[in-house]
Amino acid sequence: MDTDHMLDAVERDRLQTAARDHLWLHFSRHSVYEEGEMPIIVRGEGAYIWDAEGRRYLDGLAGLFVNQLGHGRTDLAEAAAAQASTLAFHPLWSYAHPTAIELAEKLASYAPGDLNRVFFTTGGGEAVESAWKLAKHYFKLTGQPTKHKVISRSIAYHGTPQGALSITGIPEMKAPFEPLVPSTFRVPNTNFYRAPEHGDDLEAFGRWAADRVAEVIEFEGPATVAAIFLEPVQNSGGCFPPPPGYFRRIREICDEYDVLMVSDEVICAYGRLGHMFGAERYGYQPDIITSAKGLTSGYSPLGAMIASDRLMEPFRQGHNSFLHGYTFGGHPVSTAVGLKNLQIFEDEKINEHVRANETAFRNTLEKLLDLPIVGDVRGDGYFYGIELVKDKATKTTFDDDESERLLRGFLSKALYDAGLYCRADDRGDPVIQLAPPLICDQEHFDEMEQILRAVLDKASTML
Ligand code: PLP
Repeated sequence: MDTDHMLDAVERDRLQTAARDHLWLHFSRHSVYEEGEMPIIVRGEGAYIWDAEGRRYLDGLAGLFVNQLGHGRTDLAEAAAAQASTLAFHPLWSYAHPTAIELAEKLASYAPGDLNRVFFTTGGGEAVESAWKLAKHYFKLTGQPTKHKVISRSIAYHGTPQGALSITGIPEMKAPFEPLVPSTFRVPNTNFYRAPEHGDDLEAFGRWAADRVAEVIEFEGPATVAAIFLEPVQNSGGCFPPPPGYFRRIREICDEYDVLMVSDEVICAYGRLGHMFGAERYGYQPDIITSAKGLTSGYSPLGAMIASDRLMEPFRQGHNSFLHGYTFGGHPVSTAVGLKNLQIFEDEKINEHVRANETAFRNTLEKLLDLPIVGDVRGDGYFYGIELVKDKATKTTFDDDESERLLRGFLSKALYDAGLYCRADDRGDPVIQLAPPLICDQEHFDEMEQILRAVLDKASTML
């Protein structure tokens, strides 16, 4: 309990009423809060957050894959304050400012190969949106005006703007907003747990999955396909890492058909996989990286689309300009925080810490495989999904009703009540997702495992 920062009962009631009457939560069922309390988080320090009643939770999701350095860092807060008092705002519309320049230079130095050009946004969906627009615009300027279609993977989430949502591969999330931007097509993801026809041959499965991309390009006509969007480790569906050789084959296909490879690293960049970029971890060269979240560790909002020199080239000539921008994209306060954040990554060897501890994290979570409800533990770095199953031997999953009762009716709340903030997700098969701040170590892994064990054990007996 944190009695110093908890709110008194009168203030808590006032906030609950105001929240119920005025605040609109994202992706949330508000009916739940008509009767029940809305969780209100008031403070964070290190890997922990506290609610209005003074209860402490381990932040098992780094907010939303964001808070790489943990909470309560005054050095990041001071970087924001110093920038706000020097230059609070100026847009990147025909003008530059020092922290955007310096952060662009730094990102170009980390990004693989010739990814040297940084277009700032305020978040991940805007970075994805920008990448698709750049792909279309680039091909129009370079004599291939019919190249505009996009390929992405089933169940992958790429954001909520209508272009990014169209690229997203989750039909239920798109249905309320149809018709969306046309011309996006899906290929299989790399869920090896659900690929029985490939037996134990992970590499053959990867080859098969990558070849589906070539197939779709052929079906649609190579002259019409502009780009493919893929995450290094696909989040939605529960952390699907790439099989060996998968990205090498994707790169070959993209080269063969002149299709841009966009590595959507909104989650996977900035240390989540123990490297600045997921592409570096898996050794592939994309044409564009989209990123956001961990770039500032959440101390201020910022996204970045990082493009290759080749893609910038036509925009350096004559009257051409990329007809696209955001008022707050590359906000001075956010870019100052981004610079400080990445400096701390170097000073405190954050990527090295993740690489040194990721096996321990995996081993600790894999202990849960002795529970009948835990079917699979998968991921890399500090990014894991635990798939829950009804029958482990047959890998039978839950039907919609069971999933509803299990995830929403029990697990989410039970884990939270037990002191672990994480995510129970059923955009694919039911999974629990874990992506803690990158400062976590064995003590935090054990705490996660113990809470998960107790709650999942109870869930097994309920079934
Ligand atoms: N792309 C990926 C891979 C994501 O995981 C997300 C968000 O989780 C987005 C795009 C959208 O980012 P934002 O919510 O910052 O718009």
